[in-house]
Amino acid sequence: MNVLVINAGSSSLKYQFLNVDTREVYAKGNCERIGIDGSFVGHEENGGPKQKLEVALPDHRTAIKHVFEILKAVDAPIDGIGHRVVQGGWYFPESALVTDETLGWVREVAPLAPLHNYAEADVIEICRDMFAQIGNVIVPDTAFHYHMPEHAWRYALPRDVVDTYHVRKYGAHGTSHRFIWRTVHELRGDKTHRLVSCHLGSGASLCAIEDGKCMDTTMGLTPLDGLIMGTRCGTIDPSTVVYLNRVGGYSIDQIDTMMNKESGLLAVSGRSSDSRDIEEGAHVGDEHCQMALEMFYYRTAQLFAEMASSMQGVDTMAFTAGIGENSAEMRQGVADRLAWMGVHLDAQKNAVRSDEPRVISTPDSAITCMVVPTNEEYMIALDVAELLG
Ligand code: ADP
Repeated sequence: MNVLVINAGSSSLKYQFLNVDTREVYAKGNCERIGIDGSFVGHEENGGPKQKLEVALPDHRTAIKHVFEILKAVDAPIDGIGHRVVQGGWYFPESALVTDETLGWVREVAPLAPLHNYAEADVIEICRDMFAQIGNVIVPDTAFHYHMPEHAWRYALPRDVVDTYHVRKYGAHGTSHRFIWRTVHELRGDKTHRLVSCHLGSGASLCAIEDGKCMDTTMGLTPLDGLIMGTRCGTIDPSTVVYLNRVGGYSIDQIDTMMNKESGLLAVSGRSSDSRDIEEGAHVGDEHCQMALEMFYYRTAQLFAEMASSMQGVDTMAFTAGIGENSAEMRQGVADRLAWMGVHLDAQKNAVRSDEPRVISTPDSAITCMVVPTNEEYMIALDVAELLG
C-alpha cells in the first residue's frame, strides 16, 4: 500500500510518499513559506538530490495541489493519506478515519495547539474534498498518551477547572515513542518490559512505556513542559508567568513567545538552539555553552529517573531524534549522570554512526541503552494501512 503522509504547519507542509510494505520512500519534501513571499517546495525523489522549486503558494490548497502534481512523476498510485495532528485532546485514544465528526474534534481541541491544529484541520478538509476517492486518516501525536493512568495525567487544580477547560497532561511525540517501543520490542522481545524512550530533538520529551502502554511522559498540556529544549524552557515554577506579568510588565503573549522561542538551550548558551553549535562552543571553553550542556544532561537524567519511578523500574533506555540519534557526547553526558542507577555505555559502541537501531551499553549495564532512529512517517503510514486496509 502506498501512503502519503502529511505534516502541516501554519506556514509549512511536509510530505512523504512511501510504500508501507517495503518501507521504500518514493519521494519527500516540504512546502515552505505558505502565504508568505518567497514560498518554495523542497523536493527529493528516491533519495536523489534535493530540488528547490520556487512556486507561489498563497495558501495550503495551492500547496497540496503542487504536491499532488509533483508526485505524478512517481509511478505509484496514492492509496491513502495520513495526517499528523499535533493535539488530539480528549477525543482520540487512537488514530481515526476522517469523518465530519473526527474533523470537528481536531478543530474543537485546536485552542490547545492553535499554531498547528487549525492548519492541520484545513489541510485534512482540503484533501478530503479534492480527492474524495482516497481515504484520509488522522494520526494524533497525543493518542499514545491517552491511556496513561489518571494519577499521571491529572493536574492538581480544582476539578471544575480541569473539567471545564480540559486542563491535563496530554503529552506529545506519541507517534515517535510508539515507533520506538515497536522497534525495541521487535529486536529485544521479552527482554524489554519497561522502556524509557528519550526523544531528544529541538523539541524533546521522555516517555515511560510498560509493555507497550504509556505510563507517563514529560510534556504536559502543551509541548512546553518537561525537558529543556532548543528554544523552550521546559518545566519551571508556573508562578514565573504571573510574576513576569505583574512585576516585569510582560504581556501574556510576550511571555508565551519568550518561553517557547527565546528560552532553552538558546537562552542559556547565548549562542544557538542547535546542539552542534553548543557542543562546539563548550569545546572551546565557552562557559555558557558548558552550562547549557550541563543543564541538558542534568534535567534529562533527572526526568529519566522520574519516568523509571512511574514504572517502578526500567530495563531499557532508547535514544532517538536529532540529538539522541547523532550526538554521542549528549548520550554519554546523560548516561554519566545515571551511573548511580547502573547505566554504563560502551564508549566505542556509542561512537558508532549508523542508521540502524543498536545497543550502546556494556554487557554489565543494569539498563540496556540503545540508539533507535525514529520514523514517525512510517508509523503514521502503518496506521493508515491498518485503518484503510
Ligand atoms: P525537530 O524534529 O524537533 O525539529 P530534530 O529531531 O531534527 O528536531 O533535532 C534537531 C536537533 O538535533 C538540533 O539540536 C541539532 O543540533 C541536533 N542534531 C542534528 N544532527 C546532529 C548531529 N549530526 N550531531 C549532533 N546533533 C545533531
